[in-house]
Parts: sequence; C-alpha cells; structure tokens
Amino acid sequence: MKKLIYLLLAVLTISCSTPDIDKSTLYIGLSKQSVTADFESNRYTVGVTANCSWVASTADEWIVLETERSTPDSEELSFTVAYNESSNSRKGLIVVKNAEYDIVTELSVSQKGFTPTLTITPESLIFTSDGGTRNIDVEANFEYEVNIAAEWLSFEKSERTLSVVAKANAESLERAAEIVISSEKYSISQIVRVTQAAKEVVELFDRDTIITNYVEYRTGNVPIIFSAPHGSTVDGGSIDGVKLIKRTKDNMDETDPSFSTTLDTRTLSLSRLIDSVFYAKTGKHPYTVFAKVSRKYVDLNRKRARGVPKNGTANGVVWDTYHATIAAAREEMTSKYGEGLLLDIHGHGHSIKRIEIGYMLTKEELDLTDTQLISDEKYVLKSSICGLVNRNKNGYNFAELLRGTYSLGYYFSRYDLSSVPSPSAKSPGSSNPYFNGGYITSTYDSSNDTAGTFDAIQLEFDSKTRESKNLQKTAESVVSAVLDYFDKHYNTTIPKNE
Ligand SMILES: [Zn+2]
Repeated sequence: MKKLIYLLLAVLTISCSTPDIDKSTLYIGLSKQSVTADFESNRYTVGVTANCSWVASTADEWIVLETERSTPDSEELSFTVAYNESSNSRKGLIVVKNAEYDIVTELSVSQKGFTPTLTITPESLIFTSDGGTRNIDVEANFEYEVNIAAEWLSFEKSERTLSVVAKANAESLERAAEIVISSEKYSISQIVRVTQAAKEVVELFDRDTIITNYVEYRTGNVPIIFSAPHGSTVDGGSIDGVKLIKRTKDNMDETDPSFSTTLDTRTLSLSRLIDSVFYAKTGKHPYTVFAKVSRKYVDLNRKRARGVPKNGTANGVVWDTYHATIAAAREEMTSKYGEGLLLDIHGHGHSIKRIEIGYMLTKEELDLTDTQLISDEKYVLKSSICGLVNRNKNGYNFAELLRGTYSLGYYFSRYDLSSVPSPSAKSPGSSNPYFNGGYITSTYDSSNDTAGTFDAIQLEFDSKTRESKNLQKTAESVVSAVLDYFDKHYNTTIPKNE
C-alpha cells in the first residue's frame, strides 16, 4: 500500500516538487537511529520508510554509502564501515534528506576501536630427546613477531601456524626455552614454554657373577640385596685342599642355645626366582649373595664363634667370604645410592602359615601399643630399620613403618601374602614362636644410628609359600611388595615395566 502511495505521488506530483503537496504529510523514517559497528569492516542495512524521495550523504570517509539515493522501490539504506585500525572508537553520521522540502533524518554510526586478540594453542610444548617438529596454532588479528632465544629451537611461520623444530638433545639434562609471540605496537605478548627431555642414558650394566669359597655373589644396579644363607643342600667340600668339617653342638667355639643345622627348604630356589622376577619387572638387578654349602658346615646367620666349628679353617673361609661380600656390597650401595636395603631370606616350620618379618624386635616388644613403641626411642634404636625411621621420604613414624599402612607387612598383604608384623597381625602373640632377626640382619642394619643409611629385614617364609607349586607366585608377590615398599620410602627410583 505504501509503495503504491509513493508511486502515485511520484507519478501524480513528480516527486515532492509540486506545490500543491501538503508538506506536513511528507516524511522519511529510519528503522533505527543509530548503528554500533565492531572494529572490523562490515556492511550494515537500515530500513527506510518514506513518502518522498531522498538522498543519503556522509562526511565521514570511513563510511561508504552503497545506497546514495532513493528509488521507487527502495526500502533500505546500505553502507559499509571500514576497518578501524585505531584502538580508539569513532563516531560518524549519515544524513538522509529531501532538500527541496527540507526533510532531514540522521543515522549516527559509532565504531569500536580495534582490540587485539591473540589465542595460542597449546601453551606449552614437550619434545623428546630426539627432537622433531611441533605446531602451534596462532589466532591473531594483527601482525605478530616471534622470538626464540635458544639455538636448539627454530621456527617457520605460516598464516595461522607456527612450526617449531627442536634439535636432538645430546645432553643428559632436560632443557627448556620460551617462545615469545608478541606485538610491540599493541603491547601484547604470550609465552609458549618448551621443554625437551634429556638424552636417555642407557646404563650399560654387565652383571658380575662371582662364585668363590661356596659363596655365590651377583652384582646389582639398585640398592637392594637379597641374602640366602640357609638354602644350600651341598653336603661338604673343601677349599685349597682343606676339607669342610661338620658342625656339632659341641665343636663350636661358643655354645649356641639355638644351634641348628636345618635346611631352609627351597629358600635358594625362591631367592633365585626373586632375583629373576625382579629383573623381569624392572630391568634392574638386585645384588644377591647366596650360600652354596649346607648349614651343616657353616651357619652364616650366626656370629663366627657360633657359625664356624673349632678347627674348621675352610668353614671359616666360607663365613668370612660371605660376610666380606655383603659388607662390600653394602659399602658400594651406600656410596652409589646413599641408601640400601638388605633382605635376608629364610624358611620356618612354625604352624601359623605367615611370613615372619624380623626387625630385631622381640614378640614381647611387638605386644606393646603403637604409642608405647613410638614414645620410647629405645625401640626405634633397637630396630633394624632405625635409619629408615628418620630417612623415609614421607616422614612416616616407626609404628607406621613397622606394622601400619606403609609397612612391608601391609605391602605383602596387597599381594596375598600373610605376614607378621602387619596391619592385621601387629604382634606374633606371646604363645607363638617367632623369628625376629638373626646375625645378618643385626650386623648390616643401621640400628643405634638414626642417621644410618642401610636397613636390614629378615624374612622367614612359612612352608606353604615355599611349596614347589607356590614358589613362582611367592617370588612374584615378594618382588611386587618390596618394590612398592621401596618406592614409598626410599629415594632411589626403580623403574617398573608394567
Ligand atoms: Zn634360616
């Protein structure tokens, strides 16, 4: 209808120029009085309602009119605003006018100032020691500069991607650098942090096996040593032509109330399995020292006067070799790693089927409460993990280490091995027999030395864990538990393959 009127007016009155037109009925209306434009260049359209012709104009050169005058059909006014490179906003005006009848309407146009935006993904890059290329997506609405102050990094810049190339890292230290993406003009910058792993040092470790004087010794590359003094069935022998003689209760230098020649059945096999499982799980070797002659000839878990028979010159050489070997290994571990752990493996025939963990505390002492054990330092000092109480990296207390959630007994239970002391069996109980640790444990531990760096624990395996069919499983569980325990408390990192 409006169009028709306009057309009629145009035809009948020839635009708005005929004098008999009532000027007060003429109008030019806009659908809006103002337009707010973003800083980017954009086209805008405003609706126009008019019953007379009009001309649009602007004095602002950043506004470019597409529609400059009315046509019989026109119902809108279109224009484009230029990109605002300034960070200041600006205001402009479009005047829509019929000059003849002095009908004027205005459209104000304001445009926001330029806002620089910079989005970078990712915000950090990690390269392996081999180096290579990684891309960074850069979304910026301005020209940016890239700066890298590291000779091992270079880059290539394309429209929205920064390709960063890292050379291989030949050093045994991790390295880091920063990529700065910035614009001085707009005072804007972002940093991408780049790190590169150290060259992996493949430790070449030739494990030595030394079998001498009935002692089998293997070197290791982690600070754990397994000792098995009572597992050999080898019945006799000689060293340099001197025969080993049998031990009896009566031919020892010193009377031993707990004299024994009993074999700890399959503890040598178990120890060998532990050794190989350990390597399979970690790629690392523990140290091992195993007796290769029966306890009938030498008891390596007794002091010399109780372990070696009178006139047993060759027997004494076995005892000396065994202990010199542990002492040397302990020395090597503490100097290389600053810490170490000895696990002395035995077998017991007690009726309760559980591993008896010996820390040199008697069962009466283990009957004390946690509070009692913690409050009197003499128990810590007596124990074979005395040094660990001070040294353990999370600062767990003596009771926690001995039979709490972070004890070896706890870790055994996680792998289906019953043991005492442990969270579920804090003490063996006064009526039950219990081995609390022998000569080896007490000799190589750090008792009486809270600054001590070496710990020793005796492990007495029950007969069920040593049945042939269970041996592999026992070894697997022991290694898993020892690795968890070691990882929790010690500083040396032992890798795990799983
Ligand atoms: Zn034993």
